[in-house]
Amino acid sequence: MECFTHQSVQAVAICKTCGRAVCHHCAIDLHFAVVCCDTCAQEASEVNSMTQKSKKLVGIGANSPTMPGGVVVYTLFTLFFLGWGAVATYRTHQPDYPSFGIGTLFMVVTIFTYFRAKKTGLKC
Ligand SMILES: [Zn+2]
Ligand SMILES: [Zn+2]
Repeated sequence: MECFTHQSVQAVAICKTCGRAVCHHCAIDLHFAVVCCDTCAQEASEVNSMTQKSKKLVGIGANSPTMPGGVVVYTLFTLFFLGWGAVATYRTHQPDYPSFGIGTLFMVVTIFTYFRAKKTGLKC
């Protein structure tokens, strides 16, 4: 395979962006990719930074499953049980202690999870 620009020179790499074969003189080594020109370099680094960002996002999710996601779920549980308790109290004209109890429990768990997540976030 010969270089796209220099027909007589053997190609050493293929541009990551446009797929053209490039020789030693044409190739631009970006360390994470080899490209043929500045335009391709620009595009390759944009793609690369996007990949790095998504890797980072996945990493955060994998390392601490109790982070924001957990807080949101616990908040929903808290609201659900407290709301349920309020409706039951309104209907029966009697405080619905079990629902309020579970709701309060979830509220405590929510606050605990939130502060623990915050603490871990600061450490990282
Ligand atoms: Zn290219
Ligand atoms: Zn060349």
